[in-house]
This record gives sequence, C-alpha cells and structure tokens, in this order.
Amino acid sequence: MAHGQAGRFAPSPTGPLHLGSLYTALASYLDARARNHDWLVRIDDLDEPRTEPGAEACILRALESHGLHWDRPVQRQSARLDAYRSALSELHRRGCLYYCTCSRRELRHAPIYPGTCRGRTAPVPDAAVRVRVENAAPKFTDLLQGGQVTPLRLVVGDFIVSRRDGIVAYQLATAMDDSEPDIATVVRGRDLLDNTPRQIHLMTLLGRSPPAYAHLPLIVGRDGRKLSKQTGAGPVDSSVPLANIRNCLVFLGLADAPDASLEDLLDWAVGRWELDRIPRNDQVVERHPPA
Ligand code: GLU
Ligand code: ZN
Repeated sequence: MAHGQAGRFAPSPTGPLHLGSLYTALASYLDARARNHDWLVRIDDLDEPRTEPGAEACILRALESHGLHWDRPVQRQSARLDAYRSALSELHRRGCLYYCTCSRRELRHAPIYPGTCRGRTAPVPDAAVRVRVENAAPKFTDLLQGGQVTPLRLVVGDFIVSRRDGIVAYQLATAMDDSEPDIATVVRGRDLLDNTPRQIHLMTLLGRSPPAYAHLPLIVGRDGRKLSKQTGAGPVDSSVPLANIRNCLVFLGLADAPDASLEDLLDWAVGRWELDRIPRNDQVVERHPPA
C-alpha cells in the first residue's frame, strides 16, 4: 500500500506520558493533520536497559484517551534492526566508521571526542563504533528555531553510532527512520535540537534526504528544568483529557479554545494550527501535574 506524507511522534518507552510528552505528541499531531499528512507513532525501544515494562502500552492508551489516533500500525525501532545494521555495514565499507575503546573515565573531560581511536578500523570486541565527522557542518532551517549551521568537529567530534553494549545508537536509528521518504516533518522538543546536525550528517553520508524540522520550545518547571520523568513530572491523568489538551493548547499559542468535546476541540485546533503562533520561549508550568 502506498502511503502519503507523514509526521511522527517517537516516544521512548521509559515511563508513562507526562504533560511535556503530551504537548509534543499534540503538536506533532496537529502539524501533521493541518498538512493533511498521516500521523504515526514510533516507539524508540532500542535502549533496552532503559525500557520500562508496560510503558509502551501505557503511552498508547494515554494517546488514545486524548483523542490522538494514529493512522498506521505502531512502528518499533526494535523491528528495524536489519535496516540499521545494513546502514552500519555500508558506512563501514566506505571507511566512515571506526572502533573506539576509550573508557568513560578517559573521556570524562572531553565533551568533544578527541579522535584517539581514529586508526582502529579493524573490528575490536566490546568497542563502540564512531562515525567520522571530518569537516561536515550540516545546515538546515528549522521551522521554529531558524537557520542552523553546526561544524560537528567543533561541537561533538566523531560520535557514536553503535554502543559498546552493541545497541544501535539513537542517532543512527533515528537518522534512518526520519529519512524514510514519507516522513515530511519532524516536530519534537528543542532539547533534541543539537542531535539534528548529527542525524543529518548520517543521512547525508547514506545518500538520504532529511525531513523538515520544527523544534518546539520546552515546557519547564519553575526550576527552569524541562518537564520529564527525571524532574518528577507525573503521568498525565487520562480521566481529564479535555483539560489536559486545553492546557497544552495554551502552550502552543491556542489559548482561545472554545468549549467543545474532545473531538471538536482537536478539529478546531487543526483548523487554527500555525507554527507562527507558538511562543518562542520555553513555557513555565506553575504546578506540576500530581505525581
Ligand atoms: N525517543 C526520543 C525521545 O523521546 C527521541 C524522539 C525524537 O527524535 O523525536 O526523547
Ligand atoms: Zn576512543
């Protein structure tokens, strides 16, 4: 079956949906709907040690109870390992990768990887794999954050595409998935903005075209930290979906929502959706949802 263009929401199954992740889900949903694109949900489940049993089902239930229905079967990165491995072997063959045996300790004071292992091109057991960035300076225009140009050598250096524990790195898996020809726009939190040049670098090496990107301002607590499980944000209360959606709409510049059913409210928001309405600054929630 041929698919049209799509937007995607890509949660990691590390815990239930909280207000910050509902806000990201809603923004990507409204953006896709407003463009007449499909909206799909992809579970980023490669990091098994961080996966929480039941989290995926819990996230999906919460999306459904908030009226955010996806248009295609749920995708899982764990089902795409063959695609990631063949991308890795192609990059190996072309000399873009090398093995890194540096310990965390050795890299402790090196935010930019110094290239110590650059000569290790033959396989080494229990090693991470890094991609050479050379002089790449990926350039893109973010639909919300504007023009970006990032000389990777100066900000991260050669970065990891396959971890020492054998797990395919988020950068590579996401670069592959987001450059599928049907993915038109990636809407996600601004906390991920500095990953984007790395992902574009990989897409370029693999001859794939990047999607358009819109990196949202974050919802932060009064301490200025992003709402997340780590900062103690509790799960969204799925018994009050209307209130939660209205809350998120305020953060997306749609504060004047009418009194309506959930379905009508979402339709109204699709009709009003414009990236230009989204406030540029991070938004502070006064009260964390009850933990
Ligand atoms: N799954 C990751 C997260 O939830 C990345 C999402 C993305 O690339 O949109 O932070
Ligand atoms: Zn190394």
